[in-house]
Amino acid sequence: MIQSNKVVAEREGTIFILSAPSGAGKTTLINGILKIFPEVRLSVSCTTRPRRRGEIHGRHYLFLEKTEFAAMRARGEFAEWASVHGSFYGTPRRPLKQSIQEGRDILLDIDVQGAGQIKKQYPRAVSIFLLPPSWRELEKRLALRGTDRRESIRRRLENARREIRAIMRYDYFVVNREIPKALEALKSIIVAERLRISRVGKWKIPPLRRALRSS
Ligand code: 5GP
Repeated sequence: MIQSNKVVAEREGTIFILSAPSGAGKTTLINGILKIFPEVRLSVSCTTRPRRRGEIHGRHYLFLEKTEFAAMRARGEFAEWASVHGSFYGTPRRPLKQSIQEGRDILLDIDVQGAGQIKKQYPRAVSIFLLPPSWRELEKRLALRGTDRRESIRRRLENARREIRAIMRYDYFVVNREIPKALEALKSIIVAERLRISRVGKWKIPPLRRALRSS
């Protein structure tokens, strides 16, 4: 299996960025990906937005006061941060660096602003944009979710429009029409990126080692 292959342990961890407008079904797909690849680490972001019902501090987010967030930002503890839907969100730098060094892939669920900042610092990061099947479907999913107030839904739709326009800056896109198919597409991207020779180096590919040595 690819994830238990020695090659994986001998390379740097890869950053996979997944961005999507709210309501595109990102959470379900992330959970699916973590089931398929249990060795992938999910980056837990910090946020100043209020906690929603069922969300756990430390698992879904680190829920911080604005002053705490500002202090972390001032200390340079975020690899990226952005204001999204009126709240602050940031990716803690330390677990990200640690994952890369340990050769453990890490998944970042961040918006387009954050994706741009990460790509600048880590050009080998892989960015994937998840799209809903249609605009109408996105509106329906947001209304059904019931976790947000009308004003918040309006703001999220406005942001979605802006975010979708940024798709050309991403490496891949996946349309979430049916969950199993979208999951299969995400899995293919991860598997393919792990097999990039440029990530591994010829000396780290076991069958090549002997062949190169004896030539
Ligand atoms: P939600 O509040 O619905 O969980 O997330 C709102 C948006 O913020 C989503 O687009 C999500 O990807 C984005 N987001 C979550 N964490 C981060 C982060 O650490 N940095 C950035 N830039 N965006 C984030």
